[in-house]
Amino acid sequence: MNQKVSPLLIVGSMAFDDLELPTIAAKNVVGGSATYSAYAASIFSTVRLVAVVGEDFPSGDLEALSRRNVDLAGLERASGQTFRWAGRYDTTLMSRVTLETHLNVFADFRPKLPRSYLDSPYVLLGNIHPALQIEVLDQVQSPKLVIADTMNFWIDGEPDALAAMLKRIDLFVINEEEARQLSGQHNICKAAKDILRRGPKALIVKRGEYGALLFDGDSTFFAPAYPLEEVVDPTGAGDTFAGALAGYLARTGDLSGPGMRRAIMVGSAAASFCVEAVGTAKVGRLGISDISTRLDLFRNLMHVAHDASFASA
Ligand code: AMP
Repeated sequence: MNQKVSPLLIVGSMAFDDLELPTIAAKNVVGGSATYSAYAASIFSTVRLVAVVGEDFPSGDLEALSRRNVDLAGLERASGQTFRWAGRYDTTLMSRVTLETHLNVFADFRPKLPRSYLDSPYVLLGNIHPALQIEVLDQVQSPKLVIADTMNFWIDGEPDALAAMLKRIDLFVINEEEARQLSGQHNICKAAKDILRRGPKALIVKRGEYGALLFDGDSTFFAPAYPLEEVVDPTGAGDTFAGALAGYLARTGDLSGPGMRRAIMVGSAAASFCVEAVGTAKVGRLGISDISTRLDLFRNLMHVAHDASFASA
């Protein structure tokens, strides 16, 4: 492994989430795309964070990020309230509806990157207004890899800004429902083809408990999700997946086909921890050994011994 770990710039939301889960309701849970992604990426690389919080955001959570090598020079504390999102999950935890989105301090946020962030080689544009994702990209000098995520809220509400963002990125990561919504295609292979024509060089489609698919034009790869007996809260699983994947790529610098496949398995392993607790309780404490242990379980899950009798058939 290349031991020179490159920093990863992450922009996204930092939030208070109100969650209606099948058995519990949890209010004021610290979340947001940048929060989950930064915790997950910090397992592998140093993180340069770009986000905005209001006066009400707990300092303790910022200190926790800082302790995990997350650089907060690009974090703005604005007057007003932090972004707030409320969602309700169905009993299977496979689908959810957004009940409320309050942009609050995000409404006036104009990201201004500190000089120390401008040379960031790896960039993760977390789920946030696509115009802000572009503003961040405009400031970074010559990134080696740009990964982006989005959400139904922006696919519906900001199609033009989203289309412009897609032209500027290398890898797009979205969930299955969003891939269908964006492309207008139900079949996921056709949806992927359509999305790849819009700009990104590669696409990852996340399918919740059914894993994730990588489409890179030439080939398709499938990574399972780890089968868990108890899923507590799926919020942030997608951001955790993207954060761990991006952090791992920043660490290895290996953007080859096999390197990307390993990164997807790492993302899948990190996401499987995220859903085991409410909010960032689990993802905020993960280390490399946790990921490594779960990757061993994945290998076991997928291993099939070769049947030598096939050779003579
Ligand atoms: P995920 O479950 O990975 O899709 O991410 C959930 C996180 O996304 C939550 O913590 C929310 O605070 C955050 N979120 C929800 N809606 C938006 C939005 N429109 N823009 C940015 N972040 C959002």
